[in-house]
Amino acid sequence: MNKEIFDILIIGAGVSGISCAIEAKIKNIDNILVLEKSDNFFDTIRKFYKDGKRVDRNWKNHIVDIIGNIDFFDSTKDDTLKYFENLLAKHNINPLYNSEVEKVIKNSENIFEVYSKTQKFLAKNVIITIGKMGKPNKPDYKIPLEIQKIVNFNLDSCTKNENILVIGGGNSAAEYAYSLIDDKNSVTLAYRQKSFSRINETNENILKEYERTKGLNIKLGCDILSLEACETKVNVHFSNKESSIFDRLIYAIGGTTPTDFLKNCGIQIDEYHKAIFDENFETNVKGLFLAGDLAAHNEGSIAIALNHGFKIIDYISKR
Ligand SMILES: Cc1cc2nc3c(=O)[nH]c(=O)nc-3n(C[C@H](O)[C@H](O)[C@H](O)COP(=O)(O)OP(=O)(O)OC[C@H]3O[C@@H](n4cnc5c(N)ncnc54)[C@H](O)[C@@H]3O)c2cc1C
Repeated sequence: MNKEIFDILIIGAGVSGISCAIEAKIKNIDNILVLEKSDNFFDTIRKFYKDGKRVDRNWKNHIVDIIGNIDFFDSTKDDTLKYFENLLAKHNINPLYNSEVEKVIKNSENIFEVYSKTQKFLAKNVIITIGKMGKPNKPDYKIPLEIQKIVNFNLDSCTKNENILVIGGGNSAAEYAYSLIDDKNSVTLAYRQKSFSRINETNENILKEYERTKGLNIKLGCDILSLEACETKVNVHFSNKESSIFDRLIYAIGGTTPTDFLKNCGIQIDEYHKAIFDENFETNVKGLFLAGDLAAHNEGSIAIALNHGFKIIDYISKR
């Protein structure tokens, strides 16, 4: 664990994340950290904008006055990336790449614990700027149409008394498995590696305890080859030549939707699946903020994301 307590930890090095980082540096808040899941900043722009794309300042004709310290004008994809690369160098901002955050928890001392797959970081304020493009990872084999309703990527559809297979070897898979047992389901946890290498000690101990005392069935070194519809259930064919029938499958093999991520951090979501936050972009969890597309009322844009960064940092610095 990294024992340093950052003043501000920013999740995501997209437009709003980088805007928060630059505005913080301009306010002389130096003790910040940016965690980014991909291997470079502006992953959305790199991946989803076509090469040579024109980047409009007033995107879709929404005219936005930029109120912060970062100017922005009509440009191209390449020039936009170069412009922000220079700003990162100028303000000495070095995001920690390949660091996908899974969860944020506020501990009893009012400090945020931010968990990536392999590390835990501490911070006084956290800004979530993960955009809207996140999706759960899906398996390579086919999921037959008839069973798509019972093949899930979160716990939203789960009830009680079902025979459920959870697939994955990370903390989410572990937490899904034991919380489903608490909800009176019968649970098998399957992971293709021979041991859990990506879960924290607490989760590993809980899994062992649930295996010993609460009937959790753990299948290690066991991959899934295919799925087959079996009336209203699913027949799972494993690599060890076994097959078993389940009421429901839950995949926890990385990636997540932004809404699931926010729920996992304890943020309240309204009936339209949008996060609830106040005029300072602060959520129900004090010190936990949202910026960018996640906090845009309709459609987000680069200019809107830049403004969010300025407003949040201004508010944090005054507090
Ligand atoms: C095809 C397309 C064209 C567009 N054209 C324009 C335009 O011309 N002009 C304009 O103003 N706007 C345009 N937009 C909109 C603009 O790109 C978005 O509004 C802007 O990128 C939003 O910024 P953001 O910071 O909220 O999210 P993003 O830019 O999506 O950044 C999110 C970042 O968070 C990272 N991340 C995600 N999950 C995690 C995690 N768990 N842990 C750590 N990091 C994580 C991602 O890898 C990413 O780098 C366009 C959008 C698209 C899709």
